Amino acid sequence: MIAWNLSPVPDVAGSQSRIELFDTAQGKIVELPAEPAASLYVCGITPYDATHLGHASTYVAFDLLNRTWRDSGSTVSYVQNVTDVDDPLLERATATGVDWRELAEQQIELFRTDMAALNVLPPDSYIGAVESIDWIVPVVETLVHRGLAYAVEGNATEPDGDIYFSLDAAAALSPEDADRWFLGQVSHLSEEQMLPLSAERGGDPDRPGKRNRLDPLLWRQARHGEPAWHGGLLGSGRPGWHIECAVIAQRFLPSPFTVQGGGSDLVFPHHEMSAGHAWASSDKPLARHYAHAGMVGYDGGKMSKSRGNLVLVSALRRDGVDPAAIRLAILSFHYRTDWSWTDAVLQQAVERLGRWRSALAAVTPTDVKEVVMDIRSAMASDLDAPGALAVVDGWASRAGEHLEDEEAADPEAQGQLVAALDALLGVRL
Ligand code: ZN
Repeated sequence: MIAWNLSPVPDVAGSQSRIELFDTAQGKIVELPAEPAASLYVCGITPYDATHLGHASTYVAFDLLNRTWRDSGSTVSYVQNVTDVDDPLLERATATGVDWRELAEQQIELFRTDMAALNVLPPDSYIGAVESIDWIVPVVETLVHRGLAYAVEGNATEPDGDIYFSLDAAAALSPEDADRWFLGQVSHLSEEQMLPLSAERGGDPDRPGKRNRLDPLLWRQARHGEPAWHGGLLGSGRPGWHIECAVIAQRFLPSPFTVQGGGSDLVFPHHEMSAGHAWASSDKPLARHYAHAGMVGYDGGKMSKSRGNLVLVSALRRDGVDPAAIRLAILSFHYRTDWSWTDAVLQQAVERLGRWRSALAAVTPTDVKEVVMDIRSAMASDLDAPGALAVVDGWASRAGEHLEDEEAADPEAQGQLVAALDALLGVRL
């Protein structure tokens, strides 16, 4: 699948030295390995309500990691998927009378346009679930062959042969191996805590015939009226969501890759189960680190389609909001915090952008050096974007005082600062 295009990241003198990031699986801030090649997988959208502020905030968060890594001199292999066939997409298509393929294509296109407007660097590989089915089927067959997956009998409403992953069998693999996967490795939740989350987030703990109520679906047999693909020994059907990401990540990135990212609602079951699938099918860990972005609400409550209060990036852009201001609004909250979109948040970002742009008239080469150094230090500290914004605010207020008495603008320093804010924070002045 084609991603989106952006102009290259501008060069900035010097480089980032070390990067600390909060690892959900380890429950603490860790120093990322200083390696020439870093790898990142961020779970993509299911294309039916793109691109709301929650999506935007997650992809901007991991864009900061991508930019910070590049600033440290690493190359970054970045992969993102698109779950372009799944229950919520099919339900929305049925409800609105639109062909599911058409709905997916429209929403993916909107997402691309929004990401480019928000100056989010594109992934190197942008991979759809549908185009991955031929890679997923043999992996599920291997899991069945190894006794780590099983078919469930049907009943009056469900056909025979849906394939589930056996958590208990997978957890018993290679008990001596320090890298082995176990349930709770990523989320640290107890099974009692996992059950309601599983039901809430696409799982089916009450499906009869499963060996463990938390066992996730790997392959769904064809149902009347649903799209289906040849599944070899599995029968005609379509893949589950967790196996989609595990297979795509392992196909396009090293095993393990450096950071698995996504919203905090993906910690369990999605990232927990993807890690289990990867380990069970390859004997290799999926990722070395797991990082998660907070959730975005609206005016202090939940932001959701059912409440009718989704804030869409495309709608803000249509209203004439500068995408750089949307990005600045997102950056004004630390990526791990849950926060709420309000009109005031946007207004503050618009004003801040205005102050920064005016202050450019009085920037000096010394300012650029200091600002770049202090932004680097903030970003190295678990991607502290609010800290980085405070650095630029400090410069802008000092520069504002000198606006009148500056003899002439320094075009070279202006260009350097504009390049640095673009490269390091993705903010275009
Ligand atoms: Zn995923």
